[in-house]
Amino acid sequence: MSESTATTTAAYLDPTLPVPERVADLLSRMTVAEKVGQMLQLDARGDYEGDILRKHVGSILHTSPHRLGHAHDLVQQTRLRVPLLVGEDCIHGHSFFEGATIFPTQLGMAATWDPALTEQAARITAVEAAATGVHWTFSPVLCIARDLRWGRVDETFGEDPYLIGELASAMVRGYQGSGFGDPTAILATAKHFAGYSETQGGRDASEADISRRKLRSWFLPPFERVAKEGCATFMLGYQTMDGVPITVNDWLLNDVLRGEWGYTGTLITDWDNVGRMVWEQKVQPDHTHAAAAAVRAGNDMVMTTPQFFEGAQEAIERGLLAESDLDRAVARILTLKFELGLFENPRRPTLERDAAVVGSDAHAAVNLEIARRSLVLLRNTGGTLPFAGGFTSLDDAGRATGSDDDRPRRVAVVGPLADAAQAQLGDWAGSSGQADWLPDGHPRHMITTVLDGLTALAPDDWTVSTALGAEIVSLVTPPEGDTLPDGQPRPKIAVPRDPDPELIAEAVERAQDADYVVAVVGDQVELVGEYKSTATLELVGGQVALLDALAATGTPLVVVVMASKPLVLPRSALDAAAVLWVANPGMRGGRAIAELLLGLIEPSGRLPISFARHVGQQPTYYNQVRGQHGTRYADLTQEPAFVFGEGLSYSTVEYSDLRVLDTELTEADVVRARVTVANTGTRPVRETVQVYVSDSVTSASWADQELKAYRQVDLEPGARATVELDLPVADCTIVDREGRRVVEPGAFELRVGPSSRRTDLLTAAFTVLPR
Ligand code: BGC
Repeated sequence: MSESTATTTAAYLDPTLPVPERVADLLSRMTVAEKVGQMLQLDARGDYEGDILRKHVGSILHTSPHRLGHAHDLVQQTRLRVPLLVGEDCIHGHSFFEGATIFPTQLGMAATWDPALTEQAARITAVEAAATGVHWTFSPVLCIARDLRWGRVDETFGEDPYLIGELASAMVRGYQGSGFGDPTAILATAKHFAGYSETQGGRDASEADISRRKLRSWFLPPFERVAKEGCATFMLGYQTMDGVPITVNDWLLNDVLRGEWGYTGTLITDWDNVGRMVWEQKVQPDHTHAAAAAVRAGNDMVMTTPQFFEGAQEAIERGLLAESDLDRAVARILTLKFELGLFENPRRPTLERDAAVVGSDAHAAVNLEIARRSLVLLRNTGGTLPFAGGFTSLDDAGRATGSDDDRPRRVAVVGPLADAAQAQLGDWAGSSGQADWLPDGHPRHMITTVLDGLTALAPDDWTVSTALGAEIVSLVTPPEGDTLPDGQPRPKIAVPRDPDPELIAEAVERAQDADYVVAVVGDQVELVGEYKSTATLELVGGQVALLDALAATGTPLVVVVMASKPLVLPRSALDAAAVLWVANPGMRGGRAIAELLLGLIEPSGRLPISFARHVGQQPTYYNQVRGQHGTRYADLTQEPAFVFGEGLSYSTVEYSDLRVLDTELTEADVVRARVTVANTGTRPVRETVQVYVSDSVTSASWADQELKAYRQVDLEPGARATVELDLPVADCTIVDREGRRVVEPGAFELRVGPSSRRTDLLTAAFTVLPR
């Protein structure tokens, strides 16, 4: 019987057989080279033909749409015709598919504090990605933001493990839909497991100085949650901890993830983690040893280490690995492929499906809602916002109408990000650098900048003018050259631009002629991302000089901080009439911002992360461990400029009458509390009622307070509500000296209010009785 007849009648091709049987049959037919190839995920921007035909790769990533169909065709020329798993970083939308829906970044989504909206964003991303032939997204990021200088803060859900867990769990649900039989489901990836964000000085992938207890206390809980909820894959971080790269960290991968949590999903390395042990971390002498170590530690798929192909085979020849060591990993990958039904239907993209769903109006509408909810108003004085007292609706031409004050106004919209469409999308989108097939980014007409938004929405008789005002950076090739040792492009050095007196003068002139000046400042992708941590947190280039000059005009100044992460704002911004942080707000961001400035919507975003006053305050996260001497530096407060949980409405809200109904509880009970929240202003609010717990005395040092729950409530002007807050005592834990998560009997405080600032919180006591 010829090989091709053999495969057409083979058991693994029979969809009626149980998956384990199909896996066993296919494994029994595979050569060592085919097994090693199955464990490889390679970059389809390279020689993907050779990778499929000669290296038998199991997966590809960064596949441009025009290559994808051909890649599937090539599989048909292979001996066993094992379908490809197609992976991509669809991390805030289908990032690199031209015309897809690009949402606010993960940090922007986190500012909504809304799991349902986050789930919707992930669902839409999955629908768009699946329609275009992607099976697997490398999202969500569950790293905890720590040092704000780190270049990847924008990819996180911020600094709090509870909020991260809520939103990450929602995102995984959104991607994976109703299960792998659903053709719109894609595999989610919890990354980067674990501790990657605990950098030294913000330097990307530096050794994480982190104990096992600290990991268990704050870094692991969100991962544990999604592992137990069925997140299909986990991606391993880049860094070493206690001298051991995560890729070979037996304790983390086997004792904790596979053992304690019982995780049966698939593990993928990060980009060339196996090779980095050789050329970067220098803890393995060559790729043969590195491959052997990675397989033995339990990695299933190896991302973009082409040398793994030869390395793993040689490791087997030299007795460093047994062929059976590969089987466990290969079986897991094949199981995923069978469960997704790829042998029957490799889920090739179809043009009709693309056209129907990618970037659809319905998706854009959800995107706009998420953008609206992500905006965080940090300051608003003198009634500057909303403009003209606020508008109530849109007229037939789509312009704001219904203000009590119908005097025409002049608005100057200035700054380097006022009309910077691609920059507004942030990292991991369009032309941000990871994909080479969208050099011009996403279609301009799909993106609404702040200038576009105000121009479109302001009443007909208003005047909207603009000026650039400042530039941010110029790019210079690093002295080490254009490429990294592994052949990847080395990011350019971002050199701050000097303030340009002519640009500033032009912007000042616009401001002087205006009733309001909206300055859109922040960062751009050259200052954000992998290899692009920043040494400072200040606004770069001519932006501070621009703000200073605008402030000096006396025209009410609204500073829109369009920044991937919290930046340190200059005095002229902190004292401005209004400050709004918008993260990277996605394609519809400019419209959402214009609606907010005009009072067509209410501000409701809350900070998922603190804003420092000075880079030297790092780290500024709110839930630091008690016990340091004092609360301030000799020359500066330790208080952040804006704290975790903070955010204003256009109305005022008062909290009163916090009560814990039963104050003596056991571990099996629920803390039942009630608080009254009143809208004492004249506009509606969506209030995020935050619940922190403080354990008065702990057997090992612990954070003074931690977010344990929150509720979002809508209140019309003058309305008040009794908000029911129920929190299982079992959640009031610490991690003890032995690394066990426990509830320790004794006195606790429940703290409830609008932010994590101590003075914003009402307090009520309760006691947990010994068992
Ligand atoms: C990043 C990952 C990403 C991968 C694939 C790596 O450099 O750290 O987050 O998923 O590349 O693009």
